[in-house]
Amino acid sequence: MNEVSMPSAGLNAIVELSHEFGTPDYVRGGGGNTSVKTADTIWVKPSGTTLAGLTADRLVPMDRARLQRLYELTPPAEAAAREALVRDEMASAVRPGTTGRPSVEAPLHDTFTRRFVVHTHPALLNGLTCARDGEAAARELFPEAMWVPYVDPGYTLCMEIRRRLSAVRGTPQEPSLVLLQNHGVFVAADTPDEIRGLYRHLMDTLRMAYEHRGVRPVWIPPPPIAPSEADALRAALRDALGPDGDASVIAGRFEVAAGPISPDHIVYARSFPMTGPVTAANAAVYRAQHGFPPRVVVTPTAVAGIGPKPRVAELAMELAQDGAFVVRLTAAFGGPRYLDDAARRFIEQWEVESYRQSVAAQ
Ligand SMILES: [Zn+2]
Repeated sequence: MNEVSMPSAGLNAIVELSHEFGTPDYVRGGGGNTSVKTADTIWVKPSGTTLAGLTADRLVPMDRARLQRLYELTPPAEAAAREALVRDEMASAVRPGTTGRPSVEAPLHDTFTRRFVVHTHPALLNGLTCARDGEAAARELFPEAMWVPYVDPGYTLCMEIRRRLSAVRGTPQEPSLVLLQNHGVFVAADTPDEIRGLYRHLMDTLRMAYEHRGVRPVWIPPPPIAPSEADALRAALRDALGPDGDASVIAGRFEVAAGPISPDHIVYARSFPMTGPVTAANAAVYRAQHGFPPRVVVTPTAVAGIGPKPRVAELAMELAQDGAFVVRLTAAFGGPRYLDDAARRFIEQWEVESYRQSVAAQ
């Protein structure tokens, strides 16, 4: 257990919340993060763990006064230099004697004055946040929530939300629900039961809104595929992609998202699937175009999640289905709004810098 004193009730409560909101309805892979705070310390989920697998002894305690320095610095304009500086500042705010690396969203958690913060990426919500008319619908469905237009996650998102919260800080209007375009939600409250109530309200309201607009808020799994066809595709993927296609998870055909919809979808399933013939030549074209191999391959009758390891392929398939569900849900709010090239590239590069280890560890 971390030496810094905290009534263990608070730590146990955030672990319980992490498990409750660490299910596929709310997050996939290592996505989402949680925290609990006192006046001088915040405990955050470490990078490279899942919410479902979080234990109290792995929470990373950080010095809140030291984190203040991060908010006051003038960062370099260049993204990689900025993220490196932010990582160093965050590392120096970690209380001594701790081994874990805090989640990149730790400063954002610290920004909320409320005690418990649970950040997730529910598909039901992303059907709204990734939709063209999402902002207008959010104002109608959740007038009490704050809507934040898309900005790069990490430091930039933290500073943007600080700027927006500073206008309402310390007043009863500080929002408990912050909806992030093409990303997910931050829920903040002083008690675990308030967190649960806020999530219940969020999910129930969304379910009713979809039903009302004639969109069924339930994912229907893709049809099964004949074992012989799956085996043939698996062999073709290995031939075409070498070690990058060594592991695969194959399902019947479903409508895969045509572009990048959120940071986690980019990290685990890439921005674009590979389509066309499953050949080495076509795979080489994909690699040349994107700079990395595909994680999702679409054929006329099947979809494959692929990777060098089984867990990577499984996550690619999970996120491909989650993304397909999100895009289907956006029909209720004007159809999908994909991330632009600059937003997509930031995640693709950021992944190399700070995200890859946590992804590989899942
Ligand atoms: Zn997130």
